[in-house]
Amino acid sequence: MALKVHDPLFAHPSESEFAQILDFYGIEWDYEPASFPTEYDGERVVEMFTPDFYLPQMDLYIELTTLKQSLITRKNRKLRRIRELNPDINIRLLYRRDFHRLMAKFGFGPLGASETPVLDRVLFGTGQIAIRVGELGREISTDYDGKDPVLVGVLRGVFCFMADLIRQTSVPMSVDFMSVSYYEHDETTVKITKELDIDLEGRHVLMVEDIVDTGMTLNYLLEYLRSKNPASLEVCTLLDKKARRLTDPELKYVGFEAPDEFVVGYGLDYIEEYRNLPFIGSLRVDAGDAANKAK
Ligand code: 5GP
Repeated sequence: MALKVHDPLFAHPSESEFAQILDFYGIEWDYEPASFPTEYDGERVVEMFTPDFYLPQMDLYIELTTLKQSLITRKNRKLRRIRELNPDINIRLLYRRDFHRLMAKFGFGPLGASETPVLDRVLFGTGQIAIRVGELGREISTDYDGKDPVLVGVLRGVFCFMADLIRQTSVPMSVDFMSVSYYEHDETTVKITKELDIDLEGRHVLMVEDIVDTGMTLNYLLEYLRSKNPASLEVCTLLDKKARRLTDPELKYVGFEAPDEFVVGYGLDYIEEYRNLPFIGSLRVDAGDAANKAK
């Protein structure tokens, strides 16, 4: 189940997304740092406007908008008024879909390389992920109390999730990793390229996945792990892209349900890019193409 948790600092989720993208590109920002008078009655200020962000490195105020056209017109009028009263001010109204272009203009972000698909939007923010991983950790700690489980991760997309998850669990456990690749010309056939080091015979095994898409990889790996005769075998996945499922292995722990889009960040890549995003976002590319390249 996807939790809708947003940083309480921000009035709107898109502001929180914008802040995270600014953080990722190393751009300093202040949230609502100043209010500007827009209407006077004589000497008395009767109306003020507070832009959402100030980016000190660019000396730029930004007002984000995802609003209806009528409200955008009203905001634009206010911004024009601020400019009239403060001719030196650098202030922009930014539509959500445009902020990547702005980043590129100032030399930041992925838009410069036209071949690279751009980040479309934040799906799960840093805080939201931390909260959900904490919940999963607590559930796993309760369920595996006294069982000394082995958590098995599949490299490489899972490394951020695994690192955070184990630090949110409070029971003794072991961790092991395996690695898989796909046969050329057959994206559904998996081969193991890194074996496990721990003997799973009689152990309680929790397989940890970054994302379950068609379920083919998981299906193959569960068969493989079952052949090691574990005492129990369950699955924990950070993301569940249900819409594309071909086989239906049981997922005991799910972080978030993901939309049918190609997602990156928090360990997940697109041709090795974007793993270091601290949040999970979606790419504006054909999901099928991207999924084939990511493995
Ligand atoms: P499945 O076998 O379930 O179709 O695919 C699972 C694997 O495909 C995942 O472990 C991951 O490596 C890759 N994958 C599937 N969907 C996505 C996605 O949206 N983003 C990324 N980065 N990888 C994906």
